[in-house]
Amino acid sequence: MERYYQKEIECAPLEELRSIQTEKLKKQVQHVWDNVPYYRKKMEEKGVKPEDIQSVDDLGKLPFLSKKDLRDAYPYGLLGKPLKDCVRIQSTSGTTGKRVVAFYTQHDIDLWEDCCARAITAAGGTDEDVCQVSYGYGLFTGGPGLNGGSHKVGCLTIPTSSGNTDRQIMFINDLSATILCCTPSYAAYLAERFKELGYGPNDISLKAGIFGAEAWSEEMRADIEKTLGIKAYDIYGLTELSGPGVAFECSAQGGMHINEDHFIAEIIDPDTEEVLPEGSQGELVFTAIDKEAFPMIRYRTRDICKLSREKCSCGRTLIKMAKPMGRSDDMLIIRGVNVFPSQIETVLLNNGYAANYQIVVDRVNNTDTLDVQVEMTPEMFTDNVGEVEEHQKKLSEGLKSMLGIKAKVSLLAPKSIARSEGKAVRVIDKRKI
Ligand SMILES: [Zn+2]
Repeated sequence: MERYYQKEIECAPLEELRSIQTEKLKKQVQHVWDNVPYYRKKMEEKGVKPEDIQSVDDLGKLPFLSKKDLRDAYPYGLLGKPLKDCVRIQSTSGTTGKRVVAFYTQHDIDLWEDCCARAITAAGGTDEDVCQVSYGYGLFTGGPGLNGGSHKVGCLTIPTSSGNTDRQIMFINDLSATILCCTPSYAAYLAERFKELGYGPNDISLKAGIFGAEAWSEEMRADIEKTLGIKAYDIYGLTELSGPGVAFECSAQGGMHINEDHFIAEIIDPDTEEVLPEGSQGELVFTAIDKEAFPMIRYRTRDICKLSREKCSCGRTLIKMAKPMGRSDDMLIIRGVNVFPSQIETVLLNNGYAANYQIVVDRVNNTDTLDVQVEMTPEMFTDNVGEVEEHQKKLSEGLKSMLGIKAKVSLLAPKSIARSEGKAVRVIDKRKI
């Protein structure tokens, strides 16, 4: 039986959703016009006034916000509420440039935690469950977001945060945890550790996992599900918009429902900024229509994906987004060809490797080189050079046919790549351009 946290919204008729969006959007545009001079200036430059926005159909009249705006307006330039009304900040790791610092009022935290509660409930969670939150706590949104959602659902929450893998396993076992929340790469590591300790899928109390904050392939999902004996659900979000829970997966496990009563999604052509029709692939853009302190309007996520309003078997009417191909900033251009790390991961897992790999890109004599370094599984590990070469050749052919370019393959001994407790470092780009 499908469970919902806020059924009246999650399954609302389309007209009702649209009218909620219209009402909130009008209010939000007035709010930023009145309180965010940075965005008001952008509106003025585009010749748009709040009264020009009469429905969701007018969204396209509004200017975009990008990562650059966040940098330029850092730290307070996009704040929509006086600091005395704000109760918390969260922040990104800042691996790709300046940190994003996002502000929250209590209202913003409540709606964020509601979104996470919807995700946990869609994964089958109830107040009978024991939910272990192994995302990092602190500035990172993963831990606090799922922690709050888990409280709202009424699960017994185990706030282990990330790291200390054997202690994670001890808590899962001793307290019979049923739901695990962490990054997919950390779930894969926990799965590997369980296996090493001799646990089969039926010996592990977990029944579901909610994994996000990095790109992961369907093959990796299948692997984690099999090893842990769980259903693995995807969750999507970003700090700029609150954190995890902007979109979440349901029992159909085919794309994530966007919480449209809080976020309006559009797909645009990243080069022309033109809005594309439903079903087209392009850059995902979000307008947060409910957030007070950090009210992002038409924020360009740089994630490449598709939207679909096809009827979902779970009964939810919220539009679905496909798993993003990866951030457009994750996309590598190698010898002029677009390569997503997720494509490489698909080939590796299809060939029987686990998701323990690194992609090293370099430039030698003005030519890009691509080196895919992957660990052999303990089963395929051997001293026999002929056998290793055979594995290498097979993988190299698989990569060539997926990517259209040749890649060097380096097979490594099991356990030679450092395991990640948060977001895995998959790409090392040594090119100086
Ligand atoms: Zn669904």
